[in-house]
Amino acid sequence: MAAEKRHITILGAGESGVGAAILAKAQGWEVFVSDFGSVRESFVKELDSLDVKWEQEVHSLERILKADLVIKSPGIPNTVPVMLEIINRGIKVVSEIEFAAYYSGAKTICITGSNGKTTTALMTYHILKKSGMNVGLAGNIGESFAKQVAEKDFDWYVLELSSFQLDDMHEFKADIAVLMNITPDHLDRYDYKMENYIASKFRVIQNQTDQDWFIYNADDKNILNEINKRTPAARLAPFSLVEEVGQGGFATNKQLTININDQFTMGIHELALKGKHNTQNSLASGVASRILEIRKEVVRESLADFTNVEHRLEFVAKVNGIEFINDSKATNINSTWFALESMENPTVWIVGGVDKGNDYTELAGLVDEKVKAIICLGKDNEKIKEAFAGKVEEIVETTSALEAVAWGYRLASKDEAVLLSPACASFDLFENYEERGNEFKKAVRSL
Ligand code: ADP
Repeated sequence: MAAEKRHITILGAGESGVGAAILAKAQGWEVFVSDFGSVRESFVKELDSLDVKWEQEVHSLERILKADLVIKSPGIPNTVPVMLEIINRGIKVVSEIEFAAYYSGAKTICITGSNGKTTTALMTYHILKKSGMNVGLAGNIGESFAKQVAEKDFDWYVLELSSFQLDDMHEFKADIAVLMNITPDHLDRYDYKMENYIASKFRVIQNQTDQDWFIYNADDKNILNEINKRTPAARLAPFSLVEEVGQGGFATNKQLTININDQFTMGIHELALKGKHNTQNSLASGVASRILEIRKEVVRESLADFTNVEHRLEFVAKVNGIEFINDSKATNINSTWFALESMENPTVWIVGGVDKGNDYTELAGLVDEKVKAIICLGKDNEKIKEAFAGKVEEIVETTSALEAVAWGYRLASKDEAVLLSPACASFDLFENYEERGNEFKKAVRSL
């Protein structure tokens, strides 16, 4: 770590910022926390109890720039004025993950990708925990890495890492890196250049040596091209749904096979989570577990009894023979692609919100095959209407979950489905994707 322990500024007083404040304080830094928005009540209490200086709804530039080190919340882009000043002064900026790793001796499994991070991280954690390992779960999920390092620390962590977190990681090294897929997302933060976004995701393997592991999706063209360019130092463990791999894992329609430390097989029907994307998630977490030599019985049992969190292809209810599915977490084209792909009955599709640069033509084939009507749920639906006009029986526009569900109920018939899989962020009409999913579920349950 280059900077001396003097002043640290933490930008953003959310879970990661407050966690970083706890750890920094414990390590003897002079801490200042600044949030341009308003700070949640529970975090206010935590900061006050820490006896650190903090502010909200303002950035006091002079105080901020006293820092020898800045820890930046992943939500803050480098283009905002305060960041431009910090960069201009040459102050070192790191993410909370990088900072926490300075003070942790734990080993890490780091999971990134455009989609499937949370599911795969939770599944991996589930297997490791069940095997009796002393393991923590952090990153984008639950309690921050920094807070856990400050308070208890574990032998191992499963870390879910977004590209924004990776962007401010430099010296960090993953013992096992997992890359699920790379499809267009968040391009607004990457100058609308796919190569920048790909480079950001590949930071997950930076600093790795031949003692480490890199688990990746071998069916993903962006990943394969990049691997060919870079020749990673780590041991490679690809997973695939289309070809048999040697070291790594693969699946057919019937069986999943993992070739790491001897062979492990399991029937696809035994897996707790259905759909091709979830088979990829099971493969990735299964491969990581077998690298750690977790017993086959434990891996099998864990992949079979795992329960996922809400809003990810979540079955809500069947009302008069119409199935309602909540996939509110699908905020980009790729996740929605897998949702539509998994639909077995004619589907009324609820889509829309804030689009991060979507190309809807990628869904044209699936819409043609599976979708009978489209319900737009967003403020600006022009791109969706343009892409699918004349391709489905009907397109309607709505501005609330209640209205969208009412239309879904009207447009779908018995043995058909209504799928909320928006391919867009939610903040034009909702606080976040959880609120969108919860309102959808509430509306369905009141039918
Ligand atoms: P993330 O944390 O990367 O956003 P989640 O596990 O929360 O990933 O899932 C986000 C969305 O993507 C959900 O709609 C889910 O059904 C879908 N999804 C999950 N795993 C995958 C995958 N491997 N590939 C594509 N889509 C996926």
